[in-house]
Amino acid sequence: MMSDLSTMTNAARALIDPEAMVHNIQVMRRKAPNSKVMTVVKSDGYGHGLASVATTLAPFSDAFGVARVEEALTLRRAGIQLPIVLLEGFYEADELPLLVTHQLTATVHCKEQVAMLTQASLSEPLPVWLKVDSGMHRLGFQPEQVPEALAALNACDNVAADIGFLSHFGCADELDNPITQAQIDTFIQVTEGLSGERSLAASSGTLFWPQSHFDWVRPGICLYGISSRIELTGEQLGLKPAMRLTSRVMAVRELKAGEPVGYGARWRSSRDTLIGVIAIGYGDGYPRSAPDGTPVWLNGREVPLAGRVSMDMITVDLGPDATDKVGDEAVLWGPELPVERIARLVDTIGYELVCQVTGRVPRQYLALNAADDAAV
Ligand SMILES: *Cc1c(COP(=O)(O)O)cnc(C)c1O
Repeated sequence: MMSDLSTMTNAARALIDPEAMVHNIQVMRRKAPNSKVMTVVKSDGYGHGLASVATTLAPFSDAFGVARVEEALTLRRAGIQLPIVLLEGFYEADELPLLVTHQLTATVHCKEQVAMLTQASLSEPLPVWLKVDSGMHRLGFQPEQVPEALAALNACDNVAADIGFLSHFGCADELDNPITQAQIDTFIQVTEGLSGERSLAASSGTLFWPQSHFDWVRPGICLYGISSRIELTGEQLGLKPAMRLTSRVMAVRELKAGEPVGYGARWRSSRDTLIGVIAIGYGDGYPRSAPDGTPVWLNGREVPLAGRVSMDMITVDLGPDATDKVGDEAVLWGPELPVERIARLVDTIGYELVCQVTGRVPRQYLALNAADDAAV
């Protein structure tokens, strides 16, 4: 009983399905059949577990994309040998030798980074993507600054030949927004006649803007089975959700009509009913902003959240005739209950909810269809 610590994790868990991720990357590859795939695994693989996600997707990837040097080092420690692109490059000159040692690829988006590269003395030249601001206006060189930055990088001994060109969309999830085509046109103009590889599309570009595929696509969220457009679910895009966030019923309690539940007495029952207390809360990353009525999947049906989300618990209205028991498994989101639905109710996007699942929630890797057999 005490021998296996893994059997103790019977509260909140995130079950991660490697087969779903493999399915999803194949869907994305088919959308951009002539492009290489830079698999984006920043922010702990969007909350799915960086090293495990990368190990699962490496055979189907041409490179990985991360936001922080630490993330890249985690990938190298996990034995990943593919190119790893730091999508925001480096922050300080001190990091540059580390980039060389671990064979990381830098994005260069500003003149300060060009100066750091010019002044460094590195044992080997670094492969570099030059980031172009094609209209999002967050990072990157303005079109008119590109020739000067490119000349400086080409002249720099610390920079490897074949500099690539990368840019990012601001509105690619809005299919009728003219900004996206304008960004594509700007990117084509800026890179016209230059020899390096080009990359513009993340998930939405890959799915909805085939004229943005170029040499490399950089999907992130869709690999996890989540839609990059808030109006749709991953399933509607042919994707399979890779995370099932679950926990267990820890108490079933009787509640009289007119009585409240939880902090602030936000919710009151209109009838005598049964309340299920489930062991998950904002301390696990379940959003505190979830309103009454937010669905929770339990024993084959949806039950509504009733009362405010606590740090470690939520309460749901099971109904007067419920037969749910302590120990029953509830699903907060997953194949049964798209995370996009929960996201819409709390006025955010699926990206934020999966990234917010906290460190105290164990990630377990298994095919979700066989979750009940293989979980323990
Ligand atoms: C996060 C990120 C991506 C992946 O975006 P998704 O919408 O998750 O597909 C691609 N490129 C860059 C530069 C990013 O920062």
